[in-house]
Amino acid sequence: MPLTSMRQILDGAAKEGYGVGAFNVNNMEQIQAIMEAARQTNSPAIVQASRGARSYTNDLFLYHLMMAAAELYPEIPIALHQDHGNSFQTCKSAIDMGFTSVMIDGSLEEDGKTPASLEYNIRVTREVVAMAHERGVTVEGELGCLGGIEDGHGAGLDARARLTDPDQAVEFVERTGIDALAVAIGTSHGAYKFSRKPDSAILDMDRIIEIHKRLPKTYLVMHGSSSVPKKLQDIINAYGGKLKPTWGVPIKEIQLGIQHGVRKVNVDTDNRLAMTGAIRKYFAEHPEGFDPRSYLKPAREAMKTLVAERMRYFGQAGHAGDYEPIPLSVMAERYSKGEL
Ligand SMILES: [Zn+2]
Repeated sequence: MPLTSMRQILDGAAKEGYGVGAFNVNNMEQIQAIMEAARQTNSPAIVQASRGARSYTNDLFLYHLMMAAAELYPEIPIALHQDHGNSFQTCKSAIDMGFTSVMIDGSLEEDGKTPASLEYNIRVTREVVAMAHERGVTVEGELGCLGGIEDGHGAGLDARARLTDPDQAVEFVERTGIDALAVAIGTSHGAYKFSRKPDSAILDMDRIIEIHKRLPKTYLVMHGSSSVPKKLQDIINAYGGKLKPTWGVPIKEIQLGIQHGVRKVNVDTDNRLAMTGAIRKYFAEHPEGFDPRSYLKPAREAMKTLVAERMRYFGQAGHAGDYEPIPLSVMAERYSKGEL
């Protein structure tokens, strides 16, 4: 089916009480892994691309791969989302290309590094909302600052330095009109999230519960939500890798978030780990190998297995058939009438 509004998918998720994984892509194998997992589990899909992914694929490769996905998997609703847009222009160019959803991350200034003021964040987010909603495109904003750095984007702050303030979240949502809000609750981008198994002192799930209480109609987004399973770390290290011990976000915490308004769950690192482990294993076992297909196939399969597992854990499995795609022009009308 044609690429679908992310808002439509999140509306469906909210109605049925599930979460939807948003998986990052940079190449054909990753897109194929997500689509195969979605088909296997009968899930709606959110595919997201960072600015780094867009420059890696020169935009057009990404766009046409996504068109191929829509054509080859007509039964799967797919939203194409810009991850961490740093400026109005980045969001606009994504929408011009056909993205059905954008994130404007005004928690940082346009350099993608410097923590921004609340007023700057509100101003740039409002501008993106006006431009995107006019075209029926979904907008995710961010308040507070996530920890770590993703694809060169991030302040590199400690994850607990700027958590989302629930009062400010109400003001932010009211003044910007966003569809979804990324919250900072102690998670970080990258593999090294926590130096021990996270408890409530480092992962503030109560904050999500509090924000959801005050903003029951705003879809919350958990970033940096890879679980960094020890099993995946072990495969990499067993075949010559040198990852330091690290902990991610436990699935049961994500599921708790989903019970309290989290509708989009960003996962990237786990897929990177799964693919890297499969490639390392292949070369350790076949040092004579040199055909890229021979190692990309198991890598793609490892990512598919991981994505399918997450789709089941987040509850989106079984729901692909719930959607009759709504054209973006109709979404635009609904936004303009204030129905959304
Ligand atoms: Zn993020």
